[in-house]
Amino acid sequence: MWRYRSFMPLAPNEEPVTLGEGDTALLRLERLGGQLGFTNLWVKDEGTNPTGSFKARGLSAAITRATAAGATRFTIPTAGNAGVASAAYCARAGASVRVYAPRTTPTPILAQIRTFGAELILLDGHIGDCGKASRAWAAESGALDLSTLREPYRIEGKKTLGLELALQFSWELPEVILYPTGGGTGLIGMWKAFHELREAGWVASPMPRFYSVQSTGCAPVVKAFESGAEASEPWPDPWTLASGLRVPGPLGDKLMLKILRESSGGAIAVTDEAMAELADRGTRGEGVDWSPEGGAVLAAAVQLRERGEIGAGERVVVFNTGAGWLYREPVDLPEAAN
Ligand SMILES: *Cc1c(COP(=O)(O)O)cnc(C)c1O
Repeated sequence: MWRYRSFMPLAPNEEPVTLGEGDTALLRLERLGGQLGFTNLWVKDEGTNPTGSFKARGLSAAITRATAAGATRFTIPTAGNAGVASAAYCARAGASVRVYAPRTTPTPILAQIRTFGAELILLDGHIGDCGKASRAWAAESGALDLSTLREPYRIEGKKTLGLELALQFSWELPEVILYPTGGGTGLIGMWKAFHELREAGWVASPMPRFYSVQSTGCAPVVKAFESGAEASEPWPDPWTLASGLRVPGPLGDKLMLKILRESSGGAIAVTDEAMAELADRGTRGEGVDWSPEGGAVLAAAVQLRERGEIGAGERVVVFNTGAGWLYREPVDLPEAAN
């Protein structure tokens, strides 16, 4: 992603902390799209990033800038994948990180956090509870807090999602973008990217309609969008198998709501059953390793198509934000033949 360094806040001779993140595939889903009522459906497969999710982009940028400024110790609250990415990028930078994660985070994700050498602290509760503990630890220890939107650079890394999408579509933006929303940086980052590209004269097409996709078990942004509110209210007892969407009180709620309305998009919640079913269809039907979050956007696409909010021929991009294997427990294997 550092090919976009002229759009990034990097000093002229600064070397990025990189593991080869970005440049992920943009794939047309002809067969699955056809079955779901679309002729122009695409997936941006972010599960192929180092550490298995788009969190690599944000943490590459954040660790680059923070270590350049002299930081060597970090702390981060996570719903899972940001923990894996921070562990790997800190290892790459020769820095250390403490990761606060909910005990209910999928086991393969927790294992990856440990494998990359982070100090893992498990808490009963959700990412909001982890955030409080992480900030307390930052104040006590002097470690730098990498929480979403509390430091300025993760969002700059996420911006490359939008720059890359525009490049892959030869500077013609798609009509609709569906994004699984937790803290909201993916959505806000792309919005920022498209504005910067327009200002620089690289794109002239209208803004895509942005849709935020959440789980019916944790849908603060959807609720605020539907009620016409400018801010969200904390979602009580959040639960969804898409752990990346278990963010009951996102800090970027006002920005997101503004983007959804300004772009004439929307917000939609889907059930865990629907996201699991669509993730499975995408994985078996197209060979893309869909995460539950990616399954959620596919399920949302189906609903929006049924409601007539998306036309059959519109160019629609769904984001598979992480790799499905990070969420799966081991499967039963057949007996050996002999
Ligand atoms: C973090 C995460 C999300 C939510 O992304 P935000 O940009 O924080 O809204 C979605 N999917 C996956 C797989 C994630 O790890």
